Amino acid sequence: MTIRLKLTLWYSAVVSLTLIAFSFILYTFLSYSMVQEIDRELTGRAVGVARSIKVVGANWFRQQQIVLPDVDVFGYPNTYLQVVDPYGRLVAKSSNLSHQSLPLSEDTLKRGATGQSFYEWLQVGDQKIRTYNYPLVAEHRVVGLLQVGQPFSGIQAALNRLKWLLWLLSGLMILVAATIGWWLARAALRPVEEITKTAALIRQDLNLHQRIPHRGPNDELGRLSGTLNGMLDSLETAYRELEESHAAQRRFVADVSHELKTPLTTIRGNIDLIRKMGDEHPAIRQEALADIASEAQRMSRLVSDMLVLARADAGLTLILQPLPVAQIIEQVGRQAKILAGDVHFIMNIDECCDRAFIMADPDYVKQLVLILLDNAFKFTPPAGTVELAVTCSMDGVQVLVKDTGMGIEGSESAKIFERFYRSDKSRPVGGTGLGLSIAKWIAQQHGASITVESELQKGSVFKVTFSAVSEKHGQENERACSTI
Ligand code: ADP
Repeated sequence: MTIRLKLTLWYSAVVSLTLIAFSFILYTFLSYSMVQEIDRELTGRAVGVARSIKVVGANWFRQQQIVLPDVDVFGYPNTYLQVVDPYGRLVAKSSNLSHQSLPLSEDTLKRGATGQSFYEWLQVGDQKIRTYNYPLVAEHRVVGLLQVGQPFSGIQAALNRLKWLLWLLSGLMILVAATIGWWLARAALRPVEEITKTAALIRQDLNLHQRIPHRGPNDELGRLSGTLNGMLDSLETAYRELEESHAAQRRFVADVSHELKTPLTTIRGNIDLIRKMGDEHPAIRQEALADIASEAQRMSRLVSDMLVLARADAGLTLILQPLPVAQIIEQVGRQAKILAGDVHFIMNIDECCDRAFIMADPDYVKQLVLILLDNAFKFTPPAGTVELAVTCSMDGVQVLVKDTGMGIEGSESAKIFERFYRSDKSRPVGGTGLGLSIAKWIAQQHGASITVESELQKGSVFKVTFSAVSEKHGQENERACSTI
């Protein structure tokens, strides 16, 4: 059963019940009021007649002891009056009864003898008559019974007509309500149909760009469309990221095989050379062995870099803890000194960093700074300068690696953070092209940003800004840096 049909049925059922209840209450109230009205009228008549009756003498064996008024004086065209003695014998009646009389049962006589007045329904032929039985009392004894009656059939017929009218109107209104309900349900559910259609289309074509159209107000269905569109946004993003990650994975595998092929070819060539000429030419053997050693070293660096990136791709998350910045950078600086060679290396750590902390993984932060320093030393000619500087302010902690080396072309600034990217000029210097990708990943893991500013032949500045300063130490940083 469709929701539309269910809604229509429910709606019709509620309308039907309401109408039936309304009709029933109206009919019952009206018929009750009619009977009440007649009863009031009958009582009035009976009291009027009873007041005019005079009883003569203390005993009442014969009716001559009761002086009756002319009941016709109280008669109305549709009101019957009748007086009977305690034995049920007719004493007087209104002329509109002509040769007929109001039926009198044993039961009515008995109840009348108790002195209590009461109402009764009588059936005379096809006529229904409402009667009021009023005992006539003299000297504390019931001396007769006055019956006042009024035909009810006319009212009954009108009530019957009303009943049929109510049935007919109710039926008609239920029909109208069902039609309106069917139409309303269709209008209300139309957006749901649109959502279903669009969802089916998306599933069929796998077209995640498509969105559910909704032009109506921001009601339940508007919110449903919004939520589904939001879900499609997330799905599209996730799908795109998945595709990008697949593409990156394929690129990575292709690059890795290419990068490994070069050193392997060199190693194999050198081994062949040693086999052929090594024994006779020890100098050539030494040279070939040196080449093999250097290529093997490059391969091992490549493999360890790839391992770090593979772990990063597998979703490795670093465990960060509050670390004193100055201390950790000093350690890296000390380790880096041996890589400097002929390059002049200086370290500059702001005083206000003495009490500054960052949320970091110590090993990875060291690796990040070492990658930047290693590059700076590599790409700076002898007698050039490399500076490792740290500044601390309320905005965060900045680690700067400045060099006076060959610099990077503007168009390459963004590319150098891609895997395996190496500028043509830097190729002779050597490297894997993975260092800065690792540095970028480490920075991201620390909630830090990494940027580069460079000028060809003048030098480069790599800047890492740590924004994640733990709350506990934030205030200390503030105090320390306010002295700048
Ligand atoms: P690698 O240094 O192993 O080649 P990186 O990913 O660390 O790989 O660097 C990528 C490229 O960025 C380098 O090949 C080089 O072209 C450029 N580069 C990085 N640091 C510097 C620098 N300090 N000066 C000039 N060029 C740089």
